[in-house]
Amino acid sequence: MKKAYSFFRINDTDESHIFEGHSKGSNYKISVDCMCKKITPSQGYWITDAVRLNEQETREKAAEFGKLVCRNCISMLYTTYE
Ligand SMILES: [Zn+2]
Repeated sequence: MKKAYSFFRINDTDESHIFEGHSKGSNYKISVDCMCKKITPSQGYWITDAVRLNEQETREKAAEFGKLVCRNCISMLYTTYE
């Protein structure tokens, strides 16, 4: 199983959070809450071109979205990357 990350946007704001998941073949299993644990998938929508990304792609997307991405999720991403 490989780690794969997905970006999620909150309905009321433009803020995005990152969910961690595991991918194996065509299966993709995602966590029930985001990396900062503040958001569940009932509160917004997946960003369609930013799902099931590897760590490198996730960091590139985070840079692209810039300050709209939750800082706590990003810091979790970097701490689990090692
Ligand atoms: Zn977050």
